[in-house]
Amino acid sequence: MIQLNDLQFTYAQSGFQLAIEALEVAVGEKVAVVGPSGSGKTTLLNLISGICVPDRGSVQVAGRQVEAMSDATRRSFRVQTIGSIFQQFELVEYLTVRDNILLPYWINRSLVLDHAVRERVSELAASTGIEDKLHRRVTRLSQGEQQRVAICRALLTRPHLILADEPTGNLDPRNKKRILQLLFDQCAEGEITLVAVTHDVNILDGFDRTIDFEQFRIEENGGGA
Ligand code: ADP
Ligand code: MG
Repeated sequence: MIQLNDLQFTYAQSGFQLAIEALEVAVGEKVAVVGPSGSGKTTLLNLISGICVPDRGSVQVAGRQVEAMSDATRRSFRVQTIGSIFQQFELVEYLTVRDNILLPYWINRSLVLDHAVRERVSELAASTGIEDKLHRRVTRLSQGEQQRVAICRALLTRPHLILADEPTGNLDPRNKKRILQLLFDQCAEGEITLVAVTHDVNILDGFDRTIDFEQFRIEENGGGA
């Protein structure tokens, strides 16, 4: 599903540099990415999804060269192929739960919002236990509930790949287990590949493999500590 080769990326502003010689994730694999804060885990997800473009090397996702696409192609490829769960959820505060889950359809003309999609919103909401909150504004939900909205939104487009950034970061231990199990179940059901960033070593059991970020050569130039 993912193949990175000879990858190099630098943030011009901070000088932070990420270099990855080779990284592969198989179709259907559930991979945890661990490493200290600031080591470049979020940047890695952004390179895989094409939000960041490498200075050098290749990023292959689902057999396509992401770094070689035009901006427009990359955007629509991302929407069609990848579901992202962002570290801070990135929910739209003034929208309801339902409209936040539907957000990919509101902002991408390449997606067609039909009856089946609306049905799927209800199904996902039910399977994540937020079906009674669909008409509520997201600001009136707990952190755990907001996290579930973010998961529903990522799953709605039936992506082949889910990129989850600290999906249990803001949750208490009980909710952590539940949310993660939910994510695993959904991935198994849809044969979805999952790459989840975490610095929580207590949740690694359910993954097929752990990639430790310490193994990558990471340099910091001029950005200070
Ligand atoms: P992690 O997710 O592992 O905590 P990040 O990938 O967010 O790490 O960040 C890696 C490094 O890159 C950090 O030093 C951070 O300050 C820097 N960084 C992140 N985003 C940007 C940006 N947009 N511009 C410049 N530097 C950035
Ligand atoms: Mg991060």
